[in-house]
Amino acid sequence: MNRLILFDVDRTLIGRSQCHHDAFSYAFKKVYDVDVDIRIIDYGGMTDPDIAIQVLKKIGLNESEILPKLDQCMDMIVDYFQNNIKRDKIPILPGVRALLELLTNDGILLGLITGNLEPVAWGKLKSIKIAHYFKLGGFGSDNINRTELVKIAVKKAEDDFNFNGKVFVVGDTPRDIKAGFEANTVTIAVATGTYSVDELKNYGPDFVFETLENKEEILDVLLK
Ligand SMILES: [Mg+2]
Repeated sequence: MNRLILFDVDRTLIGRSQCHHDAFSYAFKKVYDVDVDIRIIDYGGMTDPDIAIQVLKKIGLNESEILPKLDQCMDMIVDYFQNNIKRDKIPILPGVRALLELLTNDGILLGLITGNLEPVAWGKLKSIKIAHYFKLGGFGSDNINRTELVKIAVKKAEDDFNFNGKVFVVGDTPRDIKAGFEANTVTIAVATGTYSVDELKNYGPDFVFETLENKEEILDVLLK
């Protein structure tokens, strides 16, 4: 296998998950006894543990209060998510299913790079029936640092799938571009999140697309 394509999840493959969003507030209340919404920070592209730490710091908790209970907080997020995902209505973004189908038919190895905790990421993708396209991933539960997630996913591809070749990272935020760049991959930005094509270009990705709908242009980049 000479191609590995690693997709971000939120705002790259799918739209917003209310259930995942609410899971943070639930866990913060249960574990730290605070009422706070993650929207007080710009969390796009951050890992779930990092989101929790930065939100709690912002409301005045310090690391010695946050870190000892962080694992418990992550477990509560997963619990809430798994108990409520059935009622969630997660949209798949335009062009995604068709692109994944084409890449899979071409024998390309596909993986995930997401700040989501692993059970949350798979739960979202299973709920809209696209989990089976992805063979591996780097998740927020593997490491707090997104660049490390890319390295973890590439290592899994090498160890489990004899992968040796070109790696692509596809994502919607400057943090995705930075992680892909730091892990020496080809970086592809897609403006389906809160950043426009022009804003994303400022961060120097190798390629930028408005959406994942223009299959020919995207395949040209991925398969050449
Ligand atoms: Mg994203």
